[in-house]
Amino acid sequence: MKVPLLDLTGQYASIKAEIDAAIARVVASQRFVLGPVVEACEEAVAAYVGSAHGVGVSSGTDALLVALMAEDIGPGDEVVTTPFSFFATAGAIARVGATPVFVDIDPATFNIDPALIEDRITTRTRAILPVHLFGQMADMAPIMEIARRHGLVVIEDAAQAIGARRDGQTAGSAGHYGCFSFFPTKNLGGYGDGGIVVTDDPARADKLLALRVHGETTRYHHRFVGGNFRLDALQAAVIHAKLPHLDRWTDQRIANASLYRGYLGDLATRHPNALTLPRTVTDRHVFNQFVVRLPDRNRTRLRLEAADIGTAIYYPLPLHLQECFAGLGYGPGDLPNSERAAQEVLALPIFPELTAGQIRHVARTLAPA
Ligand SMILES: *Cc1c(COP(=O)(O)O)cnc(C)c1O
Repeated sequence: MKVPLLDLTGQYASIKAEIDAAIARVVASQRFVLGPVVEACEEAVAAYVGSAHGVGVSSGTDALLVALMAEDIGPGDEVVTTPFSFFATAGAIARVGATPVFVDIDPATFNIDPALIEDRITTRTRAILPVHLFGQMADMAPIMEIARRHGLVVIEDAAQAIGARRDGQTAGSAGHYGCFSFFPTKNLGGYGDGGIVVTDDPARADKLLALRVHGETTRYHHRFVGGNFRLDALQAAVIHAKLPHLDRWTDQRIANASLYRGYLGDLATRHPNALTLPRTVTDRHVFNQFVVRLPDRNRTRLRLEAADIGTAIYYPLPLHLQECFAGLGYGPGDLPNSERAAQEVLALPIFPELTAGQIRHVARTLAPA
């Protein structure tokens, strides 16, 4: 039995008529960039997240970039973030000329450890950029409290966490900005690149709207230097058509996670050093990835690969040890929880359309009885 890490063809087949009609409407309109289809998508996603405003952008990476630009964060400024994330998290900080300041993770959740943040705040700190990794929200209450006390802005990287909830808040609506990606592998994926920034603040929303079109406020008059961070109407049409299905797909991801727990829970309890299952400490973990820890991760991965089971390592090298950040002066051992996670993590297939039989097969192959 072959089990891919992700297969989007089944999902498309299940909603083909809706998607094809939405795409056909955009093609018929010949309005491909911004416009009413993008606006409708922005409104729907912002409402889903629980934020007042949504500004569609060209990718999740550009969502982070434009949020940082909207705060005029740049050279000389520091932004506190996690080293255990996709590169874009820190890349966006570096691209505006600011300095990422890496704070280690809580090993139980893989998210930034709020207890370690305050020690790293200096007079140069402008923002905190937490990531809701794998679909589970970071601990936003203490993060917002630290930010309030120090007058910092909070930009959530919610690329992997649309629909996640914790302590009565939803991913992306707890901070000053919430940044989402519509990359095809995300829980709400388009058919190409796309993203959105949400915010409750109308002034911030206005600035984001200008920045995504080169800082233009009235035609050919530029208040800011922005960029081309626009969202395509085709992507917006696909996202908007998929949104009503998102909660059901997320429920299926959560059900798949429960199946894994059913098959692997005993082993993980009896041999906690051999296998650690993801810990859900929040109200709704949306499982963009189902990531286990295995001390013999690389060998297990080869065994699963030999059995035609797709896996992935998110992420094999923490951001503070990336070559491009060598100048920041971090070295091995500086952020031990992130470095250990990078050695041990393995993502198993979790996408909504998996069958119970496929999950059982993955679990049995991972841990033969
Ligand atoms: C996917 C992702 C991004 C970037 O999104 P793109 O749309 O691929 O640019 C940023 N941060 C995290 C945590 C992600 O998973």
